[in-house]
Amino acid sequence: MIEPDLELAQALFNELYAIGYDGIGVTRDTYGPGEQRAHDLIRLSGTELGLEARIDAALNLYLTLPGLERSLPAVLTGSHLDSVPRGGNYDGAAGVIAGMSVLASWIKCGRRPKRDVTVISIRAEESVWFPVSYIGSKSALGLLPADALEAVRFDTGKTLGKHMEEQGGFPETLVNGAPAVSIGAVCAFIELHIEQGSVLIESRQAIGIVTGICGSLRYRSATITGQYAHSGATPRTHRHDAVVAFAELVHELQNTWQVLEADGHELTLTFGQVNTDSKQSDFSKVAGKVVFCIDIRSRDVDTLDLMNDYVQRAVADLSAKHGVNFNLGEKIRSQPASMDPALRHGLTVCAKNRDLKFHAMPSGAGHDAAMFAYTGIPTAMIFIPNANGSHNPDEQMEMDDFSNGARVLSDILWQISNQ
Ligand SMILES: [Zn+2]
Repeated sequence: MIEPDLELAQALFNELYAIGYDGIGVTRDTYGPGEQRAHDLIRLSGTELGLEARIDAALNLYLTLPGLERSLPAVLTGSHLDSVPRGGNYDGAAGVIAGMSVLASWIKCGRRPKRDVTVISIRAEESVWFPVSYIGSKSALGLLPADALEAVRFDTGKTLGKHMEEQGGFPETLVNGAPAVSIGAVCAFIELHIEQGSVLIESRQAIGIVTGICGSLRYRSATITGQYAHSGATPRTHRHDAVVAFAELVHELQNTWQVLEADGHELTLTFGQVNTDSKQSDFSKVAGKVVFCIDIRSRDVDTLDLMNDYVQRAVADLSAKHGVNFNLGEKIRSQPASMDPALRHGLTVCAKNRDLKFHAMPSGAGHDAAMFAYTGIPTAMIFIPNANGSHNPDEQMEMDDFSNGARVLSDILWQISNQ
């Protein structure tokens, strides 16, 4: 068994941190200088290893170790290199660096696979910058809708198309050209990623083998409109209190969540933002307006629909009960994705052969792997333990854990690339 090149991995993590540090955490801004520096670093490292480098119209980076039979569909691994503002060093980057450390070790010992193996550094996975999900992987797979290029980055006010152009990309080709990654040219995609929750750490498992990636159903800007009124002068029965209606909505749907869970459904429900109008509300007024959002996630489309039915029902009941008006706004959905059963099985065998404890688990967070699976490319994901969650400066991945994940990645890649 070959050991991934951990020295290279550590050096790349260090360098990425140094060029991404923003004074608090790490910022690798999508289609901006932060993400670009990361891509430049990985590209340089790849060419130093002798890998073939290529970029597509959306500036995704492909570093390929040529196989012995180049006409065969290739094996793809990798993840994204962008981060949220003031994020951590490992979300996304761990997947790219794992791929690099695997190929570096193969090259060192003269290993040559039958198929091409490519490490992809994907652009723009973090949808905080532009209100579009999976920009890089959708672009690579020919799935980016043309109007996405008009989406505006929250901090610069410039469009996605403009940002791409400024970094050297070709948004025009994206819309009219052939996709950079076609389904017939790739036989598998494996993404290694840090776990963004605490399941692996708490259960003391070495790696996670992802069963599927949750889809979501979201109301990102819902409103309850009631009536502002004097807090002392308005009796309870005369009130149209938006805050109380919201509180009951949360309470009722939390209960529903519990009931559905007891029934065997797997889902999450989150009200991540809730605000009264700061200009109109105060301590001595019944609140006339609440703005909030709902985020429902599940691997099962039927569960998403079922929970949505409960939301609709609760909203109707509470409107009548409190004399308020609910407007849930636009419903935004993303499809769940299943990981390939044969690849999942392959990963369990690789983990056992390395004597590693593993845990089969769904991914509540979205990943580029969902897009590859969606197009029909056999896809799998490896999670590695990570303390303190992600999207914050305290993300904490241990190199021992990384190396376990990279070992399993190396073994599965070697296996598929020689089939
Ligand atoms: Zn990520």
